[in-house]
Order: sequence, then structure tokens, then C-alpha cells
Amino acid sequence: MRKIQMVDLKGQYEPIKEQVNRSIQEVIDTTAFINGPEVHSFQKELEEYLGVKHVIPCANGTDALQIAMMGLGLKPGDEVITADFTFAATVEVIALLQLTPVLVDVNPHGFNIDVDAIRRAITPKTKAIVPVHLFGQVADMNAIMEIAKEYNLYVIEDNAQAIGANYTQKDGTTVKTGAIGHVGSTSFFPSKNLGCYGDGGAIFTNDDDLAHTIRGIVNHGMYERYHHDVVGVNSRLDSIQAAVLRAKLPLLDSYNFKRREAARKYSQKLSHHDKITVPMICDVCDCHVFHQYTLRLKNSDRDALVKHLNANDIPCGVYYPIPLHKQKAYADSRYNEADFPVTNMLVEEVISLPMHTELDDEQIDYITKTILEFLD
Ligand SMILES: *Cc1c(COP(=O)(O)O)cnc(C)c1O
Repeated sequence: MRKIQMVDLKGQYEPIKEQVNRSIQEVIDTTAFINGPEVHSFQKELEEYLGVKHVIPCANGTDALQIAMMGLGLKPGDEVITADFTFAATVEVIALLQLTPVLVDVNPHGFNIDVDAIRRAITPKTKAIVPVHLFGQVADMNAIMEIAKEYNLYVIEDNAQAIGANYTQKDGTTVKTGAIGHVGSTSFFPSKNLGCYGDGGAIFTNDDDLAHTIRGIVNHGMYERYHHDVVGVNSRLDSIQAAVLRAKLPLLDSYNFKRREAARKYSQKLSHHDKITVPMICDVCDCHVFHQYTLRLKNSDRDALVKHLNANDIPCGVYYPIPLHKQKAYADSRYNEADFPVTNMLVEEVISLPMHTELDDEQIDYITKTILEFLD
């Protein structure tokens, strides 16, 4: 059996090696390292793939979120509602811009922001909601867009873990996540579903004016060379990363298919056990791309299972072990423990298994067998 890895980037590289190497060499040969033609071509190809009018590439997924918020003109003191159970980047940029993060609980089935909790958190200062499509599962966007319309709020989709996921809207049309809200962001961090070989990110929107504003913000607030109209940042996707992403984008659907197949096989072996809750797979809506395959464990010692798996050469992860409202940087006397029952429970129960495009049946059998042995 091949050594099991949490993410097998080498295995994914092998079949596309020649094309990736050639594309990188071409960038070097032309020395168009910054804003080269590869970046523009990738932008166009991603716009087409996502069915979104504007893609603005940038340096990473954290920048993408920050720039999206800057582009919307959010001001210090504006309240932004987001999930308590997510990676810190989301709340970090809210705080950096001196906006007020309002963390709310998630639902136990999909791990995503709880729609009723959003409603309860809305005040006259609320300006935006940031749903995170956590682990590749799409948040309840139909309900979220409805709330946003009712209260005149912006929706910024953090799509870093769900690129390529389809979502069926109320009117029956299917769209790609990231293109549902007013603006979306993603990360091309190497281990993401569409990863480059370094850092990268992008912002998406169907709004022409917002796209124009954001194109200036990523480039030092310049709309005309050396005229700085707004305070911007320097956030670019470099040409070598764009070349890698161009080679991988046509494979994204097949990558996500392989993740879903691996998830299906895991669930087949594990779902019958009464101490295990496998991730919810929605058969009809085709909306989980399994950035992570995350189990919930009941009445068992999750941390002992982590040790047992590691002792058997199986890597695993706990995403995330601490709720954001309990992190030193984001703790606030406004928060009440009774408002976070689900997040407080999930941080104790969750464990993420190896998930990538190269997992084979033998590896999945070994991983599931090792888990079941421990629990029985
Ligand atoms: C990875 C990730 C980010 C940040 O992306 P970087 O490219 O690492 O800055 C933001 N939000 C979520 C949910 C992520 O998983």
C-alpha cells in the first residue's frame, strides 16, 4: 500500500507533470512574471467555468476576503456576521478592517452557519453576512440570500473550501458557489480543491461597478497609472501560479468527482457504526465537494482515536479544535456561551480523515478498518 497522506500533491502532479513544467518554463522564458498573459487567460477561463462576469485574481484567499470587504465600502463599526466554526482568516480580516465581527453558531448536520442564528444577530449596524462553505459543503444560500434581501445586507461567500460546487437556487437554476452572493472569494493554497504551487486567490462578482472598484484596490488603489484614488493594497496572483492553475482548472470537476467517490466509500464503511456520524451527503443537490471528509464521534475519545490513527501511519486532522469566540484575539464579553451549543460540541467531536484526489480503495479500507477496530 502506498503511504497514506492527508493530501497527496505529488500524486496529483505526476499525470500533469509535462504540461505544468512546460507552462512554468514558458513563463520563465518570457519573463512575464507579474501580470503576464497567463494571469489574464486564467482569469477569463475561471470566469467561464464559474459562470461569473468578473474574476479578479489576487495573492491569497485571506486577501480576497479583505479586498471584497474593502470593495463593498464597509466602514469601521459596521457589523459583519459570520460562523463561529471556521478557519480564522474570515474573522481576522473583519477585525483588521475595524469592522465588528459577530460570530454565530452553526448547524450540526452541514457544519455551516445557522440561518436562525443569523436572524437573531441582526442589528441596525449589520452590513454583511459571510457564509463559509465549510469542508466543501454549501451553506444554506437560498435562505441567506433571502435574509440579505429582507435586511438589505451584502453577502460575501467564502468559497475557499468549495470551488467547483454546484448549488440549485430557489428558481431551479444551478449556479457555482462563489457566484451566488454579491461577491465571493477563494484560495488557491496548494491543498485546496483547486490549488497552485504557492499562494494564490481570487475574488468573484457579477457587479460591474464592484469589479472595477476591486481591480483598483488590488493594485494600490490605482485606476489610472500613478493616480491613487483610494487606499489599496498590493495583491497579485503571479504568472507562474496562473500557469499551474490553467493546467489544473480543466481537471477540477474530475478532482471533485474523485473526492466525492472517496467520501462515498468512506461513508459506506462507516455510516452503520452508532458512535459515528458521517458527513451529510445531499443526493439531489450535488453540492458537496469534500475539501475535508469530517466525521463526528459520539461517546468516544476523539483525541485517543487521533493518536491511534497516527500510530498506524494514518494522518488525520481536527478542524477546528477551538471555536473562534474562544480564541484570545476574538473573544468578546458580548458573547454568551449559551449561544454556541453546536460549535462547542463540534470542536470536541470532529475528526477529518485523509481526503484528496489520489486515495485508492486499499487505503480507504485500511483507514476505515483501523477506525472501526478502535471503536469496537
Ligand atoms: C484557506 C482558507 C482561507 C484563506 O486562504 P489563504 O489562501 O490561505 O489565505 C480563508 N477561508 C477559508 C474557509 C479557508 O479554508
